[in-house]
Amino acid sequence: MPKRKKTFPCGHKGYGQICHRCTHNQVVERVSLQNQTAKRQAKQAWLASFEQDPIDLSMLPKHVVLKARQIIAELQHHCNYTDFGGKRLRHDRFIISIPITRHYRMLCRDCGNILVPQAVLSHEDYNVCKPGG
Ligand SMILES: [Zn+2]
Repeated sequence: MPKRKKTFPCGHKGYGQICHRCTHNQVVERVSLQNQTAKRQAKQAWLASFEQDPIDLSMLPKHVVLKARQIIAELQHHCNYTDFGGKRLRHDRFIISIPITRHYRMLCRDCGNILVPQAVLSHEDYNVCKPGG
């Protein structure tokens, strides 16, 4: 005897004891809820991570934030800013400018044996800040 399609209480038609369409939809829904939760948690963790930074990085693109943090962490171990291509500013020898990406640089104050991060500036901001530049 050939299997006959039956109509489930949900209105879908199919074979077997349970509606596979509804089961499938439930799984899809559960996975998408889990994804949403994971995304929300990741976003919250990302927002919270800015509280750990010595300077405000929250306005910067993600890749710049990550690179800036890496440089900040490495500066804490050894102050050789020249390793990162850092240079002293001509008009203020106590400020060191370290390139983060092609478009961003970090300004640090030379406090003797430590460099204290001051700000991350985009190339445009940086040129505006430069006196007489
Ligand atoms: Zn169904």
